[in-house]
Amino acid sequence: MKDQFCILIHYHEISLKGKNRSWFEKALIRNIKKQLISLPVSKVYLSAARIFCSGIEVAEWEQYKNRLKRIIGIKNATLMHQVECTIDSIQNSAEAILSNVSFDTFRISTKRQYKDFFLSSQKVNEEVGRHVQSIYDKSVKLKNADIDIIIELVKGLAYVGHQRIQGYGGLPMGTSEHAISMISSGIDSPVASFAMIRRGVNLSYVHFHSSPATSRQSVKNVEEILKVLAQYQIQCQLYLVPLLEIQQKIMAEAPNKLWVILFRRAMIHISSKIASSINAPALISGESVGQVASQTLSNIQATSDISDRPILRPLCGMNKEDIITIAQEIGTYDISIEPYEDCCSFFIPMHPETKASLDRVIKVESAIDFGDMFDRAIENTVISLIKCSDYIKSREKVDGNR
Ligand code: ATP
Ligand code: MG
Repeated sequence: MKDQFCILIHYHEISLKGKNRSWFEKALIRNIKKQLISLPVSKVYLSAARIFCSGIEVAEWEQYKNRLKRIIGIKNATLMHQVECTIDSIQNSAEAILSNVSFDTFRISTKRQYKDFFLSSQKVNEEVGRHVQSIYDKSVKLKNADIDIIIELVKGLAYVGHQRIQGYGGLPMGTSEHAISMISSGIDSPVASFAMIRRGVNLSYVHFHSSPATSRQSVKNVEEILKVLAQYQIQCQLYLVPLLEIQQKIMAEAPNKLWVILFRRAMIHISSKIASSINAPALISGESVGQVASQTLSNIQATSDISDRPILRPLCGMNKEDIITIAQEIGTYDISIEPYEDCCSFFIPMHPETKASLDRVIKVESAIDFGDMFDRAIENTVISLIKCSDYIKSREKVDGNR
């Protein structure tokens, strides 16, 4: 009989869900099928609170790995050899796997869902460990072994493997409604966006630019960042909003200490209008308390009330170093440190207000006659669809094969 291989996936938080667990499982399976498009897979199915991908091509593991890593909701995914649930078959499989790898130390980690099997997980570890030692003369090391042989006994079958990727966990993409993320090309807002994607939120993005007073570089950087974030979402919408006219009006009529706060209020106001037009109940921002002058609690208070919906700030209590680490891990950092002129920092005054009073801000703002500038900014907004490039290539391959 030909050797059978599959990918065994454990999901994360979904296992804590009650009655609607199957709804989350279905969403995850749908996302897995979408992400693995064009790679050989005959079936993706649920069994014993695990997801199996069968009919796969072992030689393509690297590709499966890269795609699986991006699927939010996955705790880990392991390339598995599927064998009969007998101790001989499991031992032979472990022996065969190890014949292709070089190692000095090893461990065996067994999980037994199939309780009818006569050996406990610990006994399986011991039996397989003894066999491996007798063949390879290597020692067992429980912590930091060179190789960890993973064995799972599920519904009368055994699965043996050692190649595993850790996922980001969280909730499957699209299971937590829609939100608008205000994205700059800085380090923080892409990380804030990722944090929300990880909670299953489907994001559309709004970016404000001051073209032609500033170069289009921030727009290009944002588009590059969204290509990275689209890997987790497959595709997303970007709203590019021209802010220059409103900024110039503010700079002409408000004291310069309040410029940044008034720009920010304008951004939030427009973002909530866009959110309302697509039924998105929340806005997302990358602010972190105290990180820069504009992000004091008073300033957050002085900007938030313009929104008719909650502004979620997933980074508000995080340190910059931790944010940078995540940006590096998800692949947005290198783009974020590219030089650009941000629409706010470009016009930043020498001494911006750090403790704005909401009353004063509202008073200054209401004395400015913006006319129909806000409507015009929305009318002149350019909407584009950003797609994950791997997904486009895969789709083309699938369509081409039809
Ligand atoms: P980031 O690293 O995300 O740019 P920051 O530390 O530079 O954040 P600010 O410039 O004060 O902080 O911006 C705070 C938040 O306001 C950003 O995280 C982002 O959510 C939003 N924001 C700033 N500039 C823009 C922009 N040009 N378009 C859309 N949203 C923006
Ligand atoms: Mg910034």
